[in-house]
Amino acid sequence: MDALAALDRRIADCGACPRLVAWREEVARTKRAAFAGETYWGRPVPGFGPADARLLIIGLAPAAHGGNRTGRMFTGDRSGDVLYRALYDVGLASQPDSVAAGDGLELYGTRVTAPVHCAPPANKPTPAERDTCRPWLVRELRLLRPTLRSVVVLGAFGWQAALPALAEAGWTVPRPRPAFAHGTRVPLDGLTLHGCFHVSQRNTFTGRLTPEMLREVLRSAAREAGLL
Ligand code: SF4
Repeated sequence: MDALAALDRRIADCGACPRLVAWREEVARTKRAAFAGETYWGRPVPGFGPADARLLIIGLAPAAHGGNRTGRMFTGDRSGDVLYRALYDVGLASQPDSVAAGDGLELYGTRVTAPVHCAPPANKPTPAERDTCRPWLVRELRLLRPTLRSVVVLGAFGWQAALPALAEAGWTVPRPRPAFAHGTRVPLDGLTLHGCFHVSQRNTFTGRLTPEMLREVLRSAAREAGLL
């Protein structure tokens, strides 16, 4: 097993945040009616994608009935539908749909992760939970560092979590820390950081983030990573 796969396994066994452990397990027990016949994952959701990824996408946290149900990042919810459709459209995914672990989806040179690996109530982790989960992201970044050339951060929460994690993993992050904005690009040593609105339904339903805006950020990040 490679080091990243070993890290993913350790993440899936983490129980460091009592509120999130209780919530992820309660959701897995009570379920949404539409998924009543399914067995929920109900554990931390590790990153998804190859160990030699050149592009990393950092979201917020798994959705209660998405990643927390399927066990794979952004899989089985509306946000994931938008993200994986765009990854497929720009040539970074083998298929446009991501419905379940084992559905055959492959990402090309791209990995998807989150600064908080457990589904939080109302999609809102606390700052303390974000900080407790940070060492997992730092370890993931360190393992990806030899190949990683681009990072796309989805939303301001992920941005605030990613900057200290990148600094801790060895990149030089400017001070004062650059602010989050959609379309912003921050060159770090050997890597470009891209800001993008989160693929949440609140953003995609209202047109704040359109499929073309998302594709544009992904294309630009993929080009800088040498993937297109
Ligand atoms: S959010 Fe992160 S640190 Fe907290 S229990 Fe889940 S995996 Fe562990």
